[in-house]
Amino acid sequence: MEVSINRSDTAPRALIQVSKVTKQYRMGDVEVHALRGVSFNIDKGGIIALMGPSGSGKSTLLNLIGALDVPTGGSLFVRDMDLAKLNRDEQSTFRNTTIGFVFQNFNLVPVLTTIENVMLPAQLGRQHLGESLHERAKVLLEKVGLGKQIHQRVNRLSGGQMQRVAIARALINKPPIILADEPTANLDHDTADTVLTVLKELCSSEGATVVVATHDSHVLSYCHRIIRLMDGKLLSDDIKE
Ligand code: ADP
Ligand code: MG
Repeated sequence: MEVSINRSDTAPRALIQVSKVTKQYRMGDVEVHALRGVSFNIDKGGIIALMGPSGSGKSTLLNLIGALDVPTGGSLFVRDMDLAKLNRDEQSTFRNTTIGFVFQNFNLVPVLTTIENVMLPAQLGRQHLGESLHERAKVLLEKVGLGKQIHQRVNRLSGGQMQRVAIARALINKPPIILADEPTANLDHDTADTVLTVLKELCSSEGATVVVATHDSHVLSYCHRIIRLMDGKLLSDDIKE
């Protein structure tokens, strides 16, 4: 498959390849430059922080990696797939099979139970899992510490519990990548710790690579690499020892 960047044929291919990506939004007569030429690769494994103040382009970048939007310029490859070449159906299949999303506001369906929420993405995509869907959802909920709440409506749960349901839901289709946008922004410090511990341990055992956008420096202790954005540009990229 064609790849846009130069490298030797023997080099392992990165899971995510972001190359000179730009994104402009048009607001009436004004062009907003959300990303101004961002490049980096992400290999499989671990948790990578995408840090930066509000407005620096974190959500825009996560949305592009997750094929929720397309870049204005540059290229984005995920598992050697050129995201700019996907049509709408392919984007939707890509999202369903390759990405699990975790959002600041949890985005659960309030009238459904915990386990119904977790099973939902698999039912929408008609995924065929090697085990029963219900069983997998139950096991994931046990692993996030909600084994006793599987039949409770999610609107009865606390914020921390809701985010743990969202993590289980994000993993139901066994995606290789989890994209988490400010997952702890609505949680207190201790609850954030519980959620981040669950996210790190469960994604590691499921073999999923996590990219977490945040402006909360508390999140950094859970990450092995910190990519900093400022005004749509890459400021620094540090891998922890
Ligand atoms: P962050 O997630 O780091 O807070 P965003 O990616 O949401 O940053 O936003 C980056 C910039 O792009 C900001 O100036 C924001 O106002 C602008 N922006 C984001 N989404 C849109 C949109 N849909 N339309 C217009 N401007 C947008
Ligand atoms: Mg954001």
